[in-house]
Amino acid sequence: MTTRRRFLANLGMMAGSGPVLCALQALGIGGYAHAQEWRGLPVGLGQGKHVAVLGAGISGLVAAHELEQAGFTVTVLEARGRVGGRAWALRDGTKVDMVGEAQQTVAFDAGNYINAGPARIPSIHHDFLAYARKFGVPMEVEVNSSRSAYLVGADGDRVRMRTAINDTRGRISELLAKAVNQGALDQTLSSADKERLMPFLIKYGDLNKDGRFLGSERSGFIAPPGAVNDMMQKPAPLELSRLLGNEQLGMSLFEDFPYMQATMFEPVGGMDRVHMAIAKALKVPPVLGAEVVRLRQSPDSVRLAYKYGSGGEMRNLTADYVISTIPFSVLRQIDTDFPRSTKAQIASVPYDASNKVAFEAPRFWEQDDIYGGLSFVGPPTALIWYPSTGLHSKRGVILGCYNSGKVAQAFQALTLEDQIAASRAAIEKAHPGNGKALEKAVVVNWSKIPFSLGPWPDWNEKKPELPHDGHIDDPVFRALQVPIGRVYLAGAQLSQTPGWQEGGIHSAWAQIEKLARRAGMSRATEPMQPVVGSAAHRATE
Ligand SMILES: Cc1cc2nc3c(=O)[nH]c(=O)nc-3n(C[C@H](O)[C@H](O)[C@H](O)COP(=O)(O)OP(=O)(O)OC[C@H]3O[C@@H](n4cnc5c(N)ncnc54)[C@H](O)[C@@H]3O)c2cc1C
Repeated sequence: MTTRRRFLANLGMMAGSGPVLCALQALGIGGYAHAQEWRGLPVGLGQGKHVAVLGAGISGLVAAHELEQAGFTVTVLEARGRVGGRAWALRDGTKVDMVGEAQQTVAFDAGNYINAGPARIPSIHHDFLAYARKFGVPMEVEVNSSRSAYLVGADGDRVRMRTAINDTRGRISELLAKAVNQGALDQTLSSADKERLMPFLIKYGDLNKDGRFLGSERSGFIAPPGAVNDMMQKPAPLELSRLLGNEQLGMSLFEDFPYMQATMFEPVGGMDRVHMAIAKALKVPPVLGAEVVRLRQSPDSVRLAYKYGSGGEMRNLTADYVISTIPFSVLRQIDTDFPRSTKAQIASVPYDASNKVAFEAPRFWEQDDIYGGLSFVGPPTALIWYPSTGLHSKRGVILGCYNSGKVAQAFQALTLEDQIAASRAAIEKAHPGNGKALEKAVVVNWSKIPFSLGPWPDWNEKKPELPHDGHIDDPVFRALQVPIGRVYLAGAQLSQTPGWQEGGIHSAWAQIEKLARRAGMSRATEPMQPVVGSAAHRATE
């Protein structure tokens, strides 16, 4: 999800409107990559062929499901004792193991959970949503933004999102109206546009007829209207210098980013519900606790060795082909007979860092009109994320930190106690007096999570001006799309959206199509099953 993270970082550092414009232009609002059309594989195509799929994250599970539908025999080898990969909901009793850290055991109230990895699905991610629908996983709305949430400046200045958005709009409209009235834009605007612009600015910025901004109901009320004499009072507008002085002001644009726009979804009960449902429907269940440690190829097969179960018993598996969705951060440590140049390419893939720190607490934020959404607090913890589920229940799980990039690298080097303290302090700053209500802290540093060793690759690490999603044009990224003998690398890591599960689906589709072609088994005349995400599938719904 690196585009949005870079987007956030850019906006967070905003000092004027220039960088915002650049960010928006670079994003090409509305210009997200269209999902490829998945036509599915011909029924019966894979008869007599065995594919080993490495990893039971979204990419591996989708690959396994689609290959099975086409008649392949599929064995999924998954190192962890669960499916989902990075899709991981922490519930009561979940053990969090991190390299170099003491084990944490989650102790949330029954029914409470936090998505340690992916937590939201944009409505433009049709293919993830289609699999959720196909496998009967109920989805609910993930409230991704709240106008009641806060932008908290480094000096502790708190501004409600609705005030920040509408007072900034009002102040900028007022400035523009002044410039127009003084004739400063006469060279730029035609007289017809100038005439049309003023009435628009009055509406857009909620200005008075003289072009002055005197505050707006859109920014909230001093006190809401009530009975008889309790009339609504409009707040005084914030000065532009106070707005600009809040380093988080740029984050008021967060929900304009296409991947963050309403309506956002989450699976009811935790992100991994979708993965569990796909796995349950496989003809052959994934082999859990199967850590692949060695891979060797001959001209007609691939031999795998894996450690199985808690005792680490060594087992072997031979398959005709392999789809590996193992993250490159892990694959680089596995003993393979890939060409030296390929190994060097895999080892060279740069990885980002990302951390989440969660607490359980009485829902004090709901007393402050906040039901879901994010408050932005700046470095080192970046944001506070409020739960969209269990509204009005006794306790909820709140994120006190979700950071990425360089800040996250430094953050994960702190002790877990210090990470918790920093996250508690960030919440205390946004919600004074409530830091002490936070209990049952749990820290996830993705760079230290075994079998992930990082949140997502940072393909555009050396091109900070480029967003990641949809803008990856890296020679190694292209080279690794090419099968290595009988081994096909896949996963969100090899898609144009490495930080989104949708990318994992698209990469799986792309690689299994290649595998089918390569096997020389493409039979265009065979009847095609309506496959999830395909036009035929949509037509049958
Ligand atoms: C903090 C965070 C927030 C995110 N937010 C979102 C979000 O809101 N929405 C969204 O859609 N996406 C989000 N993502 C991205 C999303 O999690 C990934 O893009 C997606 O889950 C990747 O799926 P995958 O199948 O490619 O890889 P993975 O899920 O990593 O699956 C790879 C599998 O390989 C297994 N494996 C590793 N080594 C071995 C081995 N030696 N032998 C056998 N198996 C092995 C792993 O255990 C794992 O199950 C987020 C990610 C993170 C970390």
